[in-house]
Amino acid sequence: MNPPVPSPSGNAAPLGGHARIVKPVAGGRVPPNLADYAATCRDFNWPAARALLDGLPGGRGLNIAHEAVDRHAAGPRADRAALRWIGRGRHRVFTWRELRDETNRVANMLQVLGLEHGARVFVLAGRIPELYLAVLGALKARCVVCPLFSAFGPEPIAMRLEIGEADLLITTEALYRRKVEALRHRLPRLRHVVLVGEAGATTELPGTLDWQRLMQAAGTAFTIPPTDPEDMALLHFTSGTTGRPKGAVHAHQAVVMHHVTGRYALDLHPDDIFWCTADPGWVTGTSYGIIAPLTNGVTNLVVEAEFDAETWYEVLERERVSVWYTAPTAIRMMMKLGRAALAGRDLSALRFMASVGEPLNPEAVLWGVEAFGMPFHDNWWQTETGGIMIANYAAMDVKPGSMGRPLPGITAAILRRDEAGGVDEVTRPMIEGELALKAGWPSMMRGYLREEARYRKCFAGEWYLTGDLAMRDEDGYFWFIGRADDVIKSSGHLIGPFEVESALMEHPAVAEAAVIGKPDPIAGEIVKAFVALKPGHEANEAMRRQLLGHARTRLGAAVAPKEIDFRANLPRTRSGKIMRRLLKARELGLPEGDISTLESDER
Ligand code: AMP
Repeated sequence: MNPPVPSPSGNAAPLGGHARIVKPVAGGRVPPNLADYAATCRDFNWPAARALLDGLPGGRGLNIAHEAVDRHAAGPRADRAALRWIGRGRHRVFTWRELRDETNRVANMLQVLGLEHGARVFVLAGRIPELYLAVLGALKARCVVCPLFSAFGPEPIAMRLEIGEADLLITTEALYRRKVEALRHRLPRLRHVVLVGEAGATTELPGTLDWQRLMQAAGTAFTIPPTDPEDMALLHFTSGTTGRPKGAVHAHQAVVMHHVTGRYALDLHPDDIFWCTADPGWVTGTSYGIIAPLTNGVTNLVVEAEFDAETWYEVLERERVSVWYTAPTAIRMMMKLGRAALAGRDLSALRFMASVGEPLNPEAVLWGVEAFGMPFHDNWWQTETGGIMIANYAAMDVKPGSMGRPLPGITAAILRRDEAGGVDEVTRPMIEGELALKAGWPSMMRGYLREEARYRKCFAGEWYLTGDLAMRDEDGYFWFIGRADDVIKSSGHLIGPFEVESALMEHPAVAEAAVIGKPDPIAGEIVKAFVALKPGHEANEAMRRQLLGHARTRLGAAVAPKEIDFRANLPRTRSGKIMRRLLKARELGLPEGDISTLESDER
C-alpha cells in the first residue's frame, strides 16, 4: 500500500494544544477537489455551485433524479457502472442507462397507481436494489420519498407512516407480514402497498400489489415533469427529547448540497468506487448512499449485509473501493479486532476514508493511519441540515478529535443564549456553546411536517440552532462536546427517549418509564430504561426479561433498551417532567447538578 498521508508519528505537531496530522502539499493519488480551503471558501457562491448541475432540459427546473441518473445516462458515462449491488450470494450491476430505464419504470408505475405530484411514497426495505430504484423513480414522478429503517419494529414504522401521511408503501413481503400487516388498520390514508417478493418472486397477499408485475407492465420511457427546485422531495424522520418523531422536509434543491459536499468533503472523482455503509433509512444513507455519488458520476457500491469486519475488508479489497464513508461504531468494532484482521489484504485502491454520525475518538482517527495508511476524516451534519456541514478535507491537516471546518458556503458559529432570550456569538476560542449555522444553504430542511412551532424553535434570528454543544479553536476547527438535549445516539442511530418510554408504558405492568443514553465503548451510547411498576407487579428478573422482549418486539432491536433497571418511582420536576438528566448523573456517578425543581424522587 502506498499511504497518501505520512504516519502521524513523524508529523503529529501539537498546535494550540492539539495534535495534527499534517497533509502533504502534493503527492496524493489524485489532486484533491478542495486543494485550498481558504481560497475556495472566499470564492464560493451558491449560483456557481448550482451551475455544476444540469437542470431539467429546457429550463424546466431541478430534479434530484435527473441529476443522479438521467443526466449521466445521456452522457459519456451511460454504460458505466452506476450502482453495484452486493447482495447475500447475489450481485447486480446497473449502468446509468439501465438505472434510467428501471427508474423510469418505477415512475410510470406510480402514475398508473394514481400517485401524483407531492404524493408520499414510503420505502421499507433492507439494502436491496428495488429500494434504490423506488427512491429515484419516485423522485422522477415528483412524489415525496421517505425511506424507513428496516430494523424498526412495527410501532416506529406505523407512527412514521401515520405522521408522514403515506399514500404508498413499497416493502418486502417478509417485512410486511412481520411489521406492517397487523397495524395497517391505523393507516386509512395508505392507498397502496406494493410488495417485493423473496428473491424476485411474485407475491399474492390480499390488499397488496406485486412489484414485479407492476414493473413488467410499466414502460421504460418517462420524461420528468417540470420540477420546482423548492418542491418537496425527501422526508426524513428524526427525534427530539419529547413528542413524536419529526418529519424533516427537504426540497429538490438539496441536490446542490449533496453534489458539492460529495466533491469537497468526500473528494469524489469520476473514477472512484464509493462505498457509504449507512442504511438509506437514515439520512446519510440517502444523501450519500444514493444521491451524492450518482450526481458526481461515481460508481456507488451497495452492500446488503450488516457489519462484519471480515466481510467488509473483503468488500474493500475485492471491489477496489477508493472512497469509503463509514461510522464510528463500525470503526471501533474494527479496532477491537485489531490490525491482524487486515493482514494480507490488498487495499491499494483506497485513498480517502470519512466518518460521520457520532463522535469519532482521536484514537480511531489515528488507528486509521496505522491500519489503512490514512486517517478517518470526521465530518458532522444532521437530518435537518440534509448534507455535510463541517468536515475534514483531503488536503487539510486533521486534528484528531475535531469534526473539521465548515464547508465552503456554510457559516458555523458557537452561540450562547443571553438573559433576554437572544443569542450571542462566542468569538473566543475553545469556549463551549451551542453549535449554530447561518440559515440558507440548499439542503436545509424546509420544515418539520405539520410541526411549525417545533420548526420555529430551531431558529434564533438568522441562526439555525443544531441542538449540539461544541467549541471552535483558534484555527476555526470545531470540536463536539455533546447534545444539548436528551436524545440518544446508539450505533449512530438517533433515538428519541419519548418513543422508547411510550412503548414501555404500553406494557400493563409499567407505571412510569424514563430512558437515557448510557455511555458504551463500542456503540457510543446504549439505551437504558428505568421503570417503575404498577402495584401488584414484582420487580424481578422475569419481569425485566418480559419488558426487554416487549420493547424489542414493538420497537425493533436498534431502538429497544438494552438494559432495564427498576425504581420505586422516578424523579420528576414539579411540573411533572421526568428528570432524565438526574437519572443519568446517578447512573454514571456524576454530580446531580441543579435539582431545585425536583418534586418526587425515588430516594
Ligand atoms: P442524525 O440527525 O440522526 O443524523 O443525527 C445528528 C446528530 O448526530 C448530530 O446532531 C450530532 O449530535 C451527532 N453527530 C453527527 N455527526 C457527528 C460527529 N461527526 N461528531 C459528533 N456527533 C455527531
